Order: sequence, then structure tokens, then C-alpha cells
Amino acid sequence: MITVQAIPVLSDNYAWLLRDSSGAVAIVDPGEAAPVAAVLDAAGGRLDVILLTHHHGDHIAGAEELRARYGAKMVGAAADAHRLPKLDLSVAEGDRVAVGTSSAHVLETPGHTRGHIAYVFDAEHVLLCGDTMFALGCGRLLEGTAAEMFASLRKFAALPPGTMVYCGHEYTESNARFALHATPDNAALQAYAARVRGLRARGEATVPSTLADELAANPFLRAADVATLADLRARKDKF
Ligand code: ZN
Ligand code: FE
Repeated sequence: MITVQAIPVLSDNYAWLLRDSSGAVAIVDPGEAAPVAAVLDAAGGRLDVILLTHHHGDHIAGAEELRARYGAKMVGAAADAHRLPKLDLSVAEGDRVAVGTSSAHVLETPGHTRGHIAYVFDAEHVLLCGDTMFALGCGRLLEGTAAEMFASLRKFAALPPGTMVYCGHEYTESNARFALHATPDNAALQAYAARVRGLRARGEATVPSTLADELAANPFLRAADVATLADLRARKDKF
């Protein structure tokens, strides 16, 4: 069993705090140390594992400070070890990462960056997908190709639909505007976008979402082929 708690960091990032029923604690993508340390210290000052999805500063900038303070183990992509904080565990597709008695498997999900990875806690139906997929969106193709992003999104689409999707940013409201522009006739999207507007009007988080909702409404996840995804991504970049 794992519980997941959002820790908002920087302007619109989420660091995700994971607590296993055995008491183990992990943090995903600590882009800032202080807000994470404040939560950890209030809960007993334990941090066992730091899980990194990719090398961008808004996902790793707090990692070294948290490792030094709590003695946590740093986990990240072997492919990007040269530009991540020094890793205690370098992982690749299919590897498993333990957090107490829970464990995740690693998906290699290039597209946003070359070495981007995602973590899937299978038993808990938890997906931590960094900047590869967002609620109603996907990451910009900063290093990878549309074909790579398409293959990465297919890996997410193959997970159980009840999977909870924990992405790296609160981008949902602007993603919803583009999604409605790109696929205006999707009734599932219209309902999802209305929920998002309500949540944001109340200042509430829109993340996590469910994979079922993304499969029904996210135009990037729904793109039938690489060319469609490439076209959507190019239009979103200019939107
Ligand atoms: Zn990024
Ligand atoms: Fe980011």
C-alpha cells in the first residue's frame, strides 16, 4: 500500500510524497528542497528514496539537499546519469525500485528528454510520469521525436485504466483550452474540462487524474499515429 501526497513546489510543479504502509517514505522530482523538508519534518523526518524522472532543474534542484539532510537513496535513469545528481541506483526499462514493501517498475519514456523515465507502482495503480504526459497534455519535444513520444504514450495507454496519473505540473487548465480547440466534439473532454475549470476556480489541484479520463479526453494520448501526434504537438507549441 502506498499513499501519495502533492507537495507544490516552484510556480506550478508537483513533487509527489509517497508513504508506504511499512513507514518508508519517497519523494518524486523534488524541484525545491524547503517545501519538501517542511512536510517531512512535520511527519517524523524520514526520507528513504528520491525518485527522479528527468534531469530538468524544476524536477531535481532540491534533490542533493534532501539526500544530504535525510540520507535518502537517489534513483534515476542510467541513460541520463551524467546529468542527474549522483545516482545510488541507476535504472532502465523494466527495472524495479522498492519503497519499503511497495515497488515500482520503470518505463523508459523518451520524447520530452532523451533519458526520461516513469515509475509505475503496479499493485497500487500509481503512475508517476514526470513531464512525459500531463493531464490533458503531453510534454514538449525538447530532445526526442514525435515517434519516441508516441511510443512512450503507448506504454501509458497499456496500463490498467484505473491507474492514477501523477504528472509533474499543474498545466491542466491551459491544456484543456488547447484540447477543446483541437478536438471540440469530444463529449468526455468537454465534461473533463468543465471539472477542471471548477477545480481551478476554487484553487484546487487537478492532478492526479485517472488514466481512464486521459484515454477518453487527452488528444495526445488519443492520437492514432505518429503524424497526428506530431501535428498536435506542433500546434500546441504555437497555441
Ligand atoms: Zn521537464
Ligand atoms: Fe518540468
